[in-house]
Amino acid sequence: MPKGVYVKTEEHKRKLSEKLKGRKPWNTDKKLSEEHKRKISRTVLKRKQKLGYINSPEARKKMSELAKVRTGENASNWKGDDVKNVTAIHRRILKLKPKNDRCDICNKVADKKGKTKLELSNIKNHRYTLNPDDYQWVHISCHRKYDKTYLNFKKELM
Ligand SMILES: [Zn+2]
Repeated sequence: MPKGVYVKTEEHKRKLSEKLKGRKPWNTDKKLSEEHKRKISRTVLKRKQKLGYINSPEARKKMSELAKVRTGENASNWKGDDVKNVTAIHRRILKLKPKNDRCDICNKVADKKGKTKLELSNIKNHRYTLNPDDYQWVHISCHRKYDKTYLNFKKELM
């Protein structure tokens, strides 16, 4: 490299660095007004909310309310159909819908085979609902028949 160019470069570098040292950061002289600061902090907060870092006060309120509701039988997974929940629903319906001595389908105490045992049957698409009106006390045999009719009916529709 020719000498001159090298010197020039060094000098240039020094000058530039001095210039930079003397320079104040861009925002030193610009004192932010309180209002401006508030605006910035609000913008930052909003951005964070958008990105999901912080929940808005409304969302937080909703969440805390949900947490309160989400206890016991109102828990979101309560209506799920795992065995535990089905048992729990059954128990609850049993309480609300005392066992009949007559079958809700054939309206008799005993079925054709003389069996009197009734079982709780869900008549709403076999979904485990919490409404006692969705259930009926029926003979096992009547239940099977009912299911068959229901399934055939469904097949016809499809
Ligand atoms: Zn029956």
